[in-house]
Amino acid sequence: MTRSITVLGATGSIGASTLDLVRRNPGEWKVEALTANCSAQELAGLAREFGAKIAVVGDETCLADLKDALAGSGIEAAGGAQALRDAAARPVDMCVAAIVGCAGLAPVMAAIERGGTIALANKEALVSAGEVMTAAVAKHGATLLPTDSEHNAIFQCLVGSSLEDVARITLTASGGPLRTWSHEQLAAATPAEAVAHPNWSMGAKISVDSATMMNKGLEYIEAHHLFPVGLDRLKIVVHPQSVIHSMVEYKDRSTLAQLGPSDMRVPIASCLAYPARMETPLEPLNLAAIGELTFHAPDEERFPATRIAREAIQAGGAAPATLNAANEVAVAAFLDGQIAFTRITALAEEVLSRYSEPAPASLDDVLALDKDARENAARILESPVSA
Ligand code: NDP
Repeated sequence: MTRSITVLGATGSIGASTLDLVRRNPGEWKVEALTANCSAQELAGLAREFGAKIAVVGDETCLADLKDALAGSGIEAAGGAQALRDAAARPVDMCVAAIVGCAGLAPVMAAIERGGTIALANKEALVSAGEVMTAAVAKHGATLLPTDSEHNAIFQCLVGSSLEDVARITLTASGGPLRTWSHEQLAAATPAEAVAHPNWSMGAKISVDSATMMNKGLEYIEAHHLFPVGLDRLKIVVHPQSVIHSMVEYKDRSTLAQLGPSDMRVPIASCLAYPARMETPLEPLNLAAIGELTFHAPDEERFPATRIAREAIQAGGAAPATLNAANEVAVAAFLDGQIAFTRITALAEEVLSRYSEPAPASLDDVLALDKDARENAARILESPVSA
């Protein structure tokens, strides 16, 4: 049976992995909408290849290029924030949410409000919106399929069980490319060094988040919303081989773990085929060749991000959205060569310390908070002592 799919963030790393699986299963999927921010040529190429009904760029200034690139194809082209939301709200069997950052929030909410099934990779949207998103999911009868590899692992380990029986959920973290670096080395880390992840191939923003461990901090908050077992039962362990993607321990002390290659096509396939299974082109896991799986506690002295994120979700209110926004600004500034690597989490913590707003109650509240925190972060960055 052919199913329909929309991919938000089609030109990114998750978008490419998703479309690779779609490409390998001709006849099983019909592509409705594909979106990007401004990669018009690439988006048009994908839209033509997959016969999408519509292609959308978030940045309206790129719409003319998109239209040119789609000329004669019969594929509709659109641009701007509302067009992204409209694309996300088109009826489909599966909407893959793979825009990076809080920019993906409004489209994800549009897909949720339609009551659709959403494969959620865009963790920043859930971190920022928290209960606003989970309440909308419940209200509109939408289904969120966790696509982040850790959350997908947990989701798989929970099948057939009750959250009440869970003693502990442990998120594994690779520790990123700078895991063994001293504080002095970290202070001098370059963007090229920070994005050179040893196990995963990902977009630039999440690669930097992995290097600072903010990715794990955001995932901790994400896990809290997806699997509400209580913060005291959510743990993080560093596991450099990235073979175990996360674990669930039950009250009888039985621990279930999900293992697999470090390739996002595994969790994406799990979502696309859910509740069934589909083939992926990956090699079987060869544990004898891997030899060793090691684990250690996170070092929150050198990598304070997990502590900052934990404190943000404990504080609640505006803190998670603020943290996410400040981190996005800081990561962009680091990638742009404006600030040192160690300044990323310091800036996030600094912005966070200035907020004690109440919890956002609506999408508009979250977006307003996000905007405000970004402006605040940018102001701090402009101050002379900031780098
Ligand atoms: P990429 O940077 O590779 O891709 C981002 C996508 O979002 C691109 O299609 C980009 O379009 C689009 N985009 C960027 N900014 C905007 C905007 N303002 N408005 C609309 N579209 C925008 O990111 P990844 O694929 O690595 O990550 C996507 C999401 O998935 C993130 O939230 C990340 O945390 C999460 N994730 C990623 C994993 C991975 O392995 N990559 C693993 C687990 C989660 P354009 O090409 O035009 O810039």
